[in-house]
Amino acid sequence: MPTPCPPIAHPELNRRSALLGAMGLLVLPASRLAAAATPQSAAVWPNALQVPGGIARLSLGPAATRPVAHVRQGDADVPLLVLGDTSGWTVLLGIALAAAPGEASIAVQTEGGGQRQLAYTVAPKRYSEQRLKVSPKTVDLSPEDNARYERERDHQATVMATFSEPLPLASALRMPVPVPGRRSSSFGLRRVFNGQARNPHSGMDIAAATGTPITAPLPGRVIDTGDYFFNGNTVWLDHGGGLLTMYCHLSAIAVKPGDRLKTGERLGAVGATGRVTGPHLHWGVMLNRSMVDPALFLAV
Ligand SMILES: [Zn+2]
Repeated sequence: MPTPCPPIAHPELNRRSALLGAMGLLVLPASRLAAAATPQSAAVWPNALQVPGGIARLSLGPAATRPVAHVRQGDADVPLLVLGDTSGWTVLLGIALAAAPGEASIAVQTEGGGQRQLAYTVAPKRYSEQRLKVSPKTVDLSPEDNARYERERDHQATVMATFSEPLPLASALRMPVPVPGRRSSSFGLRRVFNGQARNPHSGMDIAAATGTPITAPLPGRVIDTGDYFFNGNTVWLDHGGGLLTMYCHLSAIAVKPGDRLKTGERLGAVGATGRVTGPHLHWGVMLNRSMVDPALFLAV
């Protein structure tokens, strides 16, 4: 699960915080950000990009009923999102950031009750790396904090296993915060603190002022809210079919588990709770329990 977000540009905070000075900034000019996130195709979402942290669209061909497909992740058979109709079905597969490049496969149940393997290729992608030297106490958790983190990690694993119907429509996600151009391209960033590799950054950071409303990018059901060690005030939405979205570091949570939201309905407000260096939204998009690049779901 997540390690802290990369530092977000926040001039006032930078001046106040010695830690920030040590960690450096990650901000790119807005023009470069927009270019980096422009999808290849404007017609179908999400965009396919068969790399770690990306998405594969795997055609299953026509069938009278929706095929059932799974991917093996660790020791779990994880159900996959299958969209389409009887003239042709497609698996939308999230590829974990930790996936090894090369050949991989999913299992598809056949109409006769058997199972076939469908192969796909993961191309390598070299995400940027950030090497930082920081005070050991900023990266080493106390035993109490570590125990809390481990409890929360187990709880989040339960949340992340949600797979529900109805399935989502194949459509673009709406930006959850109205700040075009202020999103960083830090998805996948590899962090090395004091020579030790940490988990890569698994979401999109969107810089915005504390209190900025955060809205649902697609219809969804609230499946978890809480205040977590790294992520601060957090909301998880379930959009169906294993497509989940996560919102972290909120200053306020406006929903509770079980609430159903329409696209554009408010779920909370941007803040700086949890382990952060300034107010921003950390937005995670998860498909089959794999965090994938939210930019692949955006129309602009
Ligand atoms: Zn982040």
